[in-house]
Amino acid sequence: MEEAVIVNGNPNQKNIAYSVQTVSGGANNTFAPFIEELRKNGTSSKRVIIYCQTIKVVSHVYGVFKGDLGGDMYVIQGDPKSSMVEMYHSRIDELNQENIVADLAKSGGNIRILISTIAYGMGVNCQGVRTIIHYGPSRNIEAYHQESGRAGRDTPALCTAVMLYSNVMLKYCDDDIKEYAHNNTLCRREALLLHFDANFSEVEKPGKPHECCDVCQRSCKYNGDSCSFVYFPSLKSSSSSEPVLQEREISCNQLKKLHAKLVYLKTSFSKDVLDTASVKNAPLFASPELLSGFGDTQIDQALTNCQYLFSVADVHKYVEIWDPSVAKEIMVAIQQLFSDTNFEDNFSEEEDSIFFSFVFWGSEQEEELFHNLPEAFFLSVENSDSDSDN
Ligand SMILES: [Zn+2]
Ligand SMILES: [Zn+2]
Repeated sequence: MEEAVIVNGNPNQKNIAYSVQTVSGGANNTFAPFIEELRKNGTSSKRVIIYCQTIKVVSHVYGVFKGDLGGDMYVIQGDPKSSMVEMYHSRIDELNQENIVADLAKSGGNIRILISTIAYGMGVNCQGVRTIIHYGPSRNIEAYHQESGRAGRDTPALCTAVMLYSNVMLKYCDDDIKEYAHNNTLCRREALLLHFDANFSEVEKPGKPHECCDVCQRSCKYNGDSCSFVYFPSLKSSSSSEPVLQEREISCNQLKKLHAKLVYLKTSFSKDVLDTASVKNAPLFASPELLSGFGDTQIDQALTNCQYLFSVADVHKYVEIWDPSVAKEIMVAIQQLFSDTNFEDNFSEEEDSIFFSFVFWGSEQEEELFHNLPEAFFLSVENSDSDSDN
């Protein structure tokens, strides 16, 4: 058993630049630049850890890399043990876990991208990690400080810690990390360190403002008038041509029909969650709506932007969802109603268990964490018709 968290040495890691961004688009959009980098540079790509909140999201993000890279994911053609992308969580078998930990302990190991829950954590020795991405915030700020601190331990070189979030992803996090996410005036380094010691009168910052955080960057004049340092590569910078925005006209009647279809979808997704839970005899740790990732917020977003939805990518762009199969169902509804898209329902349903895990953060500590949640979150399987009100 580990004792209380002890921050070794200076909690202020001066070679990490912090930033926060909202998620725009699905995982395939978000991580496309990293996939490109892997394809181009192979094992000389910089090492990245992508932390996700649930095992389900880990599997999904891993699927995005695997789906895109195919055989290019392996250093030795056809040898799954030579993968440059690995996933890590409490349910992969022990031998695999050990192999991953061993590979990451060598700076020259094969793994360049590790997609993980917090199960990959305390006490591990990881070398060569230059970027920590949180695809969805940590549970609280202390956890975030620890997890982001796994970058740059073996180098004075500048590393980045980027937290990506959406309101859905923030829902079950503690208030302190919500504050961290929404803050855009206080230096992020200060925000992190103040949490540990309110007496930090003066936080020592790196020389250049952009090496501190995205908030400090706004006052950075190191490269002329506007600082061009990029914390997180986005698709925009790599594709120069902006696509023309497509738009359709919608009648009041169509809008009503779409609303009805989406409400029906919400109900059927929730039912899927409950069915899966009862088949697997798994307790639900959150509302079915949250688990399916499709609730009233998403319905509002889909209705408000339905004139722009012509593809699954559009759905990811305008509606806060993470599950591609949910996006697909929304497109099915849109196509049925408007018949003006090129969308074809020909997705390969590789992972039929989209509700693979109901458990947030997915580590051994999960039990303990969930005992601290208010009782209302522990919906029993019978208690299906819950309406969350935001
Ligand atoms: Zn700063
Ligand atoms: Zn700068």
